[in-house]
Amino acid sequence: MSKIIAIANQKGGVGKTTTSVNLAACLASLGKKVLLVDIDPQGNTTSGLGVNKGDVSNCIYDVLINEVHPKDAMLDTNVSGLKIIPATIQLAGAEIELVPTISRELRLKKSLHMVKDQFDYILIDCPPSLGILTINSLTAADSVLIPIQCEYYALEGLSQLLNTVRLVQKHLNTSLQIEGVLLTMLDARTNLGIQVIEEVKKYFQQKVYQTIIPRNVRLSEAPSHGQAIITYDPRSKGAEVYLELAKEVIMYEQAAR
Ligand code: ADP
Ligand code: MG
Repeated sequence: MSKIIAIANQKGGVGKTTTSVNLAACLASLGKKVLLVDIDPQGNTTSGLGVNKGDVSNCIYDVLINEVHPKDAMLDTNVSGLKIIPATIQLAGAEIELVPTISRELRLKKSLHMVKDQFDYILIDCPPSLGILTINSLTAADSVLIPIQCEYYALEGLSQLLNTVRLVQKHLNTSLQIEGVLLTMLDARTNLGIQVIEEVKKYFQQKVYQTIIPRNVRLSEAPSHGQAIITYDPRSKGAEVYLELAKEVIMYEQAAR
C-alpha cells in the first residue's frame, strides 16, 4: 500500500516545507520508503535536503513538461530510505507553459503513478498558491495535509483552500481526502497559541493532529546545513515532535485499513 500526501496551504511561511522535509525524513527513519516531491519553484525543500540545484540534471519541471520519467529525476538524499524529485527555478515557467497543454491537471498524477508502488509514502511540497502546480498535486494525491501556523487569523484564507479541495474532489479526484491539519510554530510563552488551537479544533475537529509543532530554533537552522532535523540535531525538540507526527500519520493509516 502506498499513499500520496500533498502538503498544501496557499499562505506562505506556515511550515509546509519544514513539515515536508521533516515528516518525510522521520517516516524514512521509521523504515518507510519515502519519496519527496518538490513542486515549489523556490525549491526550498530541494536545498533544505542538501541538494545542490546546480548539479540537478532533471527536475520536476522536466517530469511535468518534458515527460521525463520520474525515476530519471529522482535523487538519493542524506537520509537513508528517502529520495527526492527536486525543483529548480525552471519550474517558475511551468504555471504558464502548462496552460495550453492537454490534461494539464493530470500531469503529476500520471507521472507519480509510474513509481507509486516503489514507495510507502510520497509527499508533495506545494507552492504558496492555488495555481496549476497545487491543482496537479491535489489531483495526484490520496490526501492533503494542511499546516496552519498558530497566529492571529490562522483560519483566514482557509476557506479558499477548502474550496479548491472541493473543486478538485468534484472534477478531478473524487477520492481526495483531508489527511490532517497540523498546528505549527506554537509559541508556548503566549496565550494566543492556546486560543488558536481551540479555534482550529472547533473547525476541523478530529482532523487536527495531536502532535503540535512548537517554535524550535533548531528546525529553522537545519535547512541552511542541508539537513533534516533528525540528522542535524536528533535530540532537539523539533526532531522529537516530527517523529511523533510521523508515528501519528502511520497510526491513522493503519487504523483506516
Ligand atoms: P512554507 O513552506 O509554508 O512557506 P516554511 O516551512 O518554509 O514555510 O517555514 C517558514 C519559515 O519558518 C522558515 O524559515 C522555517 O525555517 C521557519 N520555521 C518553520 N517551522 C518552524 C518551527 N517549528 N520553529 C521555528 N521555525 C520554523
Ligand atoms: Mg515552502
